[in-house]
Amino acid sequence: MATRKKTPPAPAACEVCQGSGVVAVAVRVGRKRRTVGKQDGMCLTCFGSGEATPTTPERG
Ligand SMILES: [Zn+2]
Repeated sequence: MATRKKTPPAPAACEVCQGSGVVAVAVRVGRKRRTVGKQDGMCLTCFGSGEATPTTPERG
């Protein structure tokens, strides 16, 4: 039996930002909140780490 190096399990990538830690957020202006474009924003699901958080508090 060959001894293989143990490879640590890769952290699950965040589903929201696909592991990039950045998501595109819509930029709204005015009272009508008209969307004028998108800009990069920190992913609030993984807090910019790009890794899916194992412990997700469930509401309810
Ligand atoms: Zn994320």
